[in-house]
Amino acid sequence: MLKLYNTLSRKIEDFKAINPPHVGIYTCGPTVYREVHIGNFRTYLGADFLRRTLEYNTFKVTHIKNITDVGHMRHLDQDHHHEAIDPIIEEAFKEGKTPQEIANYYTDLYLKDEEKLNIKKANRYPKASEHVREMIEIIKILLKKDLAYETDGAVYFNVKKFKDYGKLSGNTLDKMDKLLKAVRVSPETDKKDSVDFALWKKAEKGRVMKWGSPWGEGFPGWHIECSAMSIKYLGDTFDVHTGGEDLVFPHHEDEIAQSEGASERKFVNYWLHGGYLLVDNEKMSRSKGNVYTISDLQKRGFDPLSFRYLTLMTHYRTKMNFTFDALHGAQTALNRLRADVSGWEGPKIGCAEYEQRFLDAINNDLNIPEALSIVWELVKSDYPTSARAESLFKFDEVLGLGLAQVKSSSRLSRDKVQSFEVPEKVMEMIREREELRRQKRYHLADQLRNKIKKMGYNAIDKEEGTEIKKI
Ligand SMILES: [Zn+2]
Repeated sequence: MLKLYNTLSRKIEDFKAINPPHVGIYTCGPTVYREVHIGNFRTYLGADFLRRTLEYNTFKVTHIKNITDVGHMRHLDQDHHHEAIDPIIEEAFKEGKTPQEIANYYTDLYLKDEEKLNIKKANRYPKASEHVREMIEIIKILLKKDLAYETDGAVYFNVKKFKDYGKLSGNTLDKMDKLLKAVRVSPETDKKDSVDFALWKKAEKGRVMKWGSPWGEGFPGWHIECSAMSIKYLGDTFDVHTGGEDLVFPHHEDEIAQSEGASERKFVNYWLHGGYLLVDNEKMSRSKGNVYTISDLQKRGFDPLSFRYLTLMTHYRTKMNFTFDALHGAQTALNRLRADVSGWEGPKIGCAEYEQRFLDAINNDLNIPEALSIVWELVKSDYPTSARAESLFKFDEVLGLGLAQVKSSSRLSRDKVQSFEVPEKVMEMIREREELRRQKRYHLADQLRNKIKKMGYNAIDKEEGTEIKKI
């Protein structure tokens, strides 16, 4: 039985799907006005482990991940809890790019990074900008039910009218005034109450992304987009909603208020939240210059999957401290695992004992660190390599390290455990050269070897793969 920690009940609960074997998951996706950083990707990897664990338990998952491409592009938006206008966006505007072009550019980058990290593709990536009509429909219902009010072209949710407010975050009505005032220091002066939040905002002068509505030209608030898109694709009530712990309040609390206010039904059965990622024990911030992206890791010569491996080592709810030393460790461990696997025989009958222990670990609120230690026990065990391969490749359906592919392609050898010191550019050329040799295109392979030499590395062909030496 799969057990999950539910933020809503603050307890570990048995997982029961509404309509088994189907499970619906909604994940708050990226804001596409700049590159997504490794802290966000830690959260998305957590959702990926959840999805893979559900599939390992033979559930059929429908995964929806939205793309936030509305707002943020013009001015600082307090309710969104995000950063002020980005210098990159300012530059793009100066170059005459439209907000949509900017959003498309960063959406593509995001999807490429997901692929590099072997995150399974969501069934849908609905864009907020394409679901404004659905958002307006919900706002109309909320107005009809007197849970919202309009003032001067803007619509606000009337928080005090929603009795259950605070059930997710604990910021209940009685504590609300003090708590929310601290969070929503808002320039919006036309609210009835400082704790209310915007469902619809009036388009200010110069705004490019705006839509017509019964309340005039404007654009939706951030929270309403997730209510509209999750309900559209998963129904009024669905199984699991995920996000980073920073989204519990106000974003997810507000999603519940809007959705349950409109449908009068329970919105989500299980709320899962991923812990923060710190860098060198500090919060990431642009001013400290410690905000890293996946391509930053690659520029330093790391395989993106080393970051995936690193996230396997910390439980998804625990704070994770990212350091480059830790990433080196993860890369080394991953390379060792690949090297071991590449020397094994093909998979036959697996090891039942290890498979049971692995399943118990992941089903215990996704205890992947425990599962990973079982993996290493198995790798070092005396079972025949064919048995180890069978079980390990099964486990890798959850871990997502691409180990079966390593086995099927002639992989770089154990000598390459130090590969993190080799620039990614060179690694790419080495891989390309191996492919050329496989195709027996030796002339091209030799040319590539000379290029690699010019970059300061010798590629030596060994039976088990390429050995790389620095010149
Ligand atoms: Zn959301």
